[in-house]
Amino acid sequence: MSSSNWLRWLHQPPWLGDCLLCLQPTLCRALLCEHCAASLDYLTTPCPGCGYPLPPGSTGVCGDCLRHPPRWRQMRVIADYQGAWQFLVHQLKYQRQPEIASLLGQLFHQHQAPLSLPQALLPVPMHPWRQWWRGYNQAQELALALGREYRLPVDMRALRRIRATRSQVGLTRTERRQNLHGAFRVRELPWRHVALVDDVITTGSTMESLCQLLRQAGVEEIEVWAICRTQPPQNRLGDSSQAEYDNFRAI
Ligand SMILES: [Zn+2]
Ligand SMILES: [Zn+2]
Repeated sequence: MSSSNWLRWLHQPPWLGDCLLCLQPTLCRALLCEHCAASLDYLTTPCPGCGYPLPPGSTGVCGDCLRHPPRWRQMRVIADYQGAWQFLVHQLKYQRQPEIASLLGQLFHQHQAPLSLPQALLPVPMHPWRQWWRGYNQAQELALALGREYRLPVDMRALRRIRATRSQVGLTRTERRQNLHGAFRVRELPWRHVALVDDVITTGSTMESLCQLLRQAGVEEIEVWAICRTQPPQNRLGDSSQAEYDNFRAI
């Protein structure tokens, strides 16, 4: 090491590795530098029913959730599934980096302070074969990270996926329902108020199926917690038919 590098080492605190986004050394927190952390975009007014953006200053749920109330009491999401968020979730999910769950758990905790917390967190289960293949279930990793942040128990055994299902994306609402039929099992639960945890909410069909099972098992209050929500379909923004939108919409 040259003398100038030694001097730099002496004058700077030891870094925690490189930032996942800009690849510069991080000095304050692992995996994300201060600059990149400050430039992340968060949802400002997501609808508490479906997670889609509401006009600034809105309170309550969107018109669509008023017409078709979701099966959960509240959906908590912090960001759109795009840009840096999409990259971070992708790293968690496909690049064998489960430690990113801790980072995402911290960011969620910084932006969500529920007045009443659920009794337990329930990760969306993955089929055992798929979990074996990937080596971990990213929803479980996230639930464990959120459990540490909020000091909540994580019930890993509450839900089981007993049938592998194909991706829901591109399926109609009816096809999604058929695809998920009989895919999950729930055991008897001591909880009355839970939060289902996943990384990204896409169509919402999985959460809808799980809510139905949890209600049958006697759970009274269900929340949905996820890091990201996919963008609203174009027709939600007002220029296509309601039928097309209903086809996309899962809740
Ligand atoms: Zn950075
Ligand atoms: Zn809504």
